[in-house]
Amino acid sequence: MRIMAVFAHPDDEIGCIGTLAKHTARGDEVMLVWTTLGELASQFGDASHEEVTRIRREHGAWVADKIGAQHHFFDMGDSRMTGSRAEGLQLARLYAQFRPNAVITWSDDHPHPDHRMSAKIAYDAITLARIPKIINEQRTNASGEPLPPPDLSGDPGMDSGEDAPQQVGKLDPWREPIRFYQYYAPASPYPEVFIDMEDKLEVAAEVMTFYHDFYKWPWNTERFREGRARTGQLGGVKAAEHFNVRMTHLKARDYLD
Ligand SMILES: [Zn+2]
Repeated sequence: MRIMAVFAHPDDEIGCIGTLAKHTARGDEVMLVWTTLGELASQFGDASHEEVTRIRREHGAWVADKIGAQHHFFDMGDSRMTGSRAEGLQLARLYAQFRPNAVITWSDDHPHPDHRMSAKIAYDAITLARIPKIINEQRTNASGEPLPPPDLSGDPGMDSGEDAPQQVGKLDPWREPIRFYQYYAPASPYPEVFIDMEDKLEVAAEVMTFYHDFYKWPWNTERFREGRARTGQLGGVKAAEHFNVRMTHLKARDYLD
């Protein structure tokens, strides 16, 4: 199974890190994707853009390594996402390459616009990735000159977290059903899913602490554990993460299950 986690900023993934760690431990392929470099974090003060983005890439790489995942950064601009077709198309090209069976992302109603927009493009990209003429459509540079279609085979960015390279070649569409998980939101109309992550609570707490030490959050590791325990109670286990799930393009089954 291949799972892609699509979030706006490094640290957004804390809510599903236990689930992702369970899947990598089971041998599934997991890719953490951030649509921005989270360059506006106020902890950076007057540091240069280069310095800030270097540190954010390190954060992403540390977390991915911690759970045995691949990772990828886009640079759609912290607090500048619009949910545009162009943003969705960048992500759709990565879907066509990674071929996820499941995607995890934000809820639709989070106050931060980047969070809502990352969820929007994560959903839009499911359809865009199904259409060969779209994922291979000609792109132009700033002067309007055509760029070659991307060939992401052997993409060094897949492991390094670098942005998608401009190589030649053709992408195959990705048309298998994608189960679309979103952070739980009380107003969501979609079914709830609890994932028992008690056996990954330690690594989840480590990731939370990693960011805690950077941001100096008042929210501490103890409260994080209490939160997972409360969610666990709702799902009948000791610790859980909580999602809503949407599914589209499902094939007919022989029977109910
Ligand atoms: Zn965020």
